[in-house]
Amino acid sequence: MTHILVAGGGIGGLAAALAQARAGHRATVLEGRPEFSEIGAGIQLAPNAFHALGILGVRERVAERADFIDELRFLDGTSGQRVAAMELTGAYRTRFGGPYAVVHRGDLHRALLDGCREAGVELLAGHRVAGYRQTGDRVTALTSARERFSADVLLGADGLRSAVRAQLVGDGGPRISGHTIYRSVIPMAEVPEELRSKAVTLWAGPGWHFVHYPIGGGAFLNLAATRDDGAREEITGAAASRSRVLGEFPGLCEEARRLLELGRDWRIWVLCDRDPVDGWVDGRVALLGDAAHPMLQYAAQGACMALEDAVVLGGLLGARASVDAPRWLVEYNTLRRGRTARTTLTARELGDQLYHAAGDEVPVRNAILAGLSPAGLRDAVAWLHGSTSFTETREPALALAEAA
Ligand SMILES: Cc1cc2nc3c(=O)[nH]c(=O)nc-3n(C[C@H](O)[C@H](O)[C@H](O)COP(=O)(O)OP(=O)(O)OC[C@H]3O[C@@H](n4cnc5c(N)ncnc54)[C@H](O)[C@@H]3O)c2cc1C
Repeated sequence: MTHILVAGGGIGGLAAALAQARAGHRATVLEGRPEFSEIGAGIQLAPNAFHALGILGVRERVAERADFIDELRFLDGTSGQRVAAMELTGAYRTRFGGPYAVVHRGDLHRALLDGCREAGVELLAGHRVAGYRQTGDRVTALTSARERFSADVLLGADGLRSAVRAQLVGDGGPRISGHTIYRSVIPMAEVPEELRSKAVTLWAGPGWHFVHYPIGGGAFLNLAATRDDGAREEITGAAASRSRVLGEFPGLCEEARRLLELGRDWRIWVLCDRDPVDGWVDGRVALLGDAAHPMLQYAAQGACMALEDAVVLGGLLGARASVDAPRWLVEYNTLRRGRTARTTLTARELGDQLYHAAGDEVPVRNAILAGLSPAGLRDAVAWLHGSTSFTETREPALALAEAA
């Protein structure tokens, strides 16, 4: 039986282990933290993610805990003008084969963790991978406590600051975007009735934007306000005062400000990504998820891409002899690098050009977006949200595998 070792038990690592276990392999996850858990609030999932979750056998579990979203709304955050809205029911679901939803990060992680347990994945917490060595047809993960875990394949799913990537790619630290995000979750009961909706709403302003959506079965409202403030240091989850947050968004129109003012227990992140690279594979070692292609959250696709990676790897390595593994890892890299690079660069562009447009760019942006028909809006996201857009590229690989 081929043994697959996964470094990192986040959304990507658990999904990858689950895909391998379902394909008949032995899968072991080494998580650096003392336990398997996920912090943070809401995460948006497009139909491509639901398609992947279906292949992983956990779609229903995630759907049970999800808030299905009816509309993506884009408003001018200064004037309050409603610029464009993409309906996510009817024609959207039919075309893309699935819903658009928001789930609590912990719920998504738990569904994958339960799936892993049921599929017999070995889950080992408290083992921080520091690097790897390859000898012949084996790979050994070395941990910071000097333990060694050997297997046929090592998948590096250890996130933005991946130790596996540091050895494999060696491209230093991530790129600090200079954008700071302030996040808060408030009870929906505190939100005035007229400000509630089943939408992801984005208010765009010069150098900033503010997004909100319901989570927890509509019991809470997730608030996320981002400012291009040139921040130069990475921050993850530090506390921020209410007055600081309100002071960062002085131009916000009345309706959006009423919501921002409801926020409390604000937390800050300074966002990071990396420039796309071509190669994530070294012999029997491959990267996935944020370890391979960390991206800004503006396309809401980082976790969706990690789920896609897991499924494509499951399809390629599934039930094949360990001797072929390096070849299928190269195939995985080839299949995934274009789509994930495009998504990474699109996320940057969305932030800089669409969400944070300023001055003369604003009326141009608003006119372009307002001019898109409902079908035109769906066309614009088809390559990304289309539920089979990644398995379409997977089929030739599978055909190749069958022919081998
Ligand atoms: C503010 C924000 C909002 C976002 N919103 C969305 C969204 O709406 N939709 C979406 O699809 N994506 C979103 N994302 C992106 C998404 O969160 C990530 O792309 C996703 O979590 C990546 O999963 P991962 O498993 O690859 O990495 P991670 O989630 O970083 O998991 C890595 C795991 O590896 C462990 N680890 C780290 N180092 C080691 C080591 N050396 N050895 C062993 N274990 C290790 C960590 O403890 C962790 O458990 C957002 C991101 C941010 C910052």
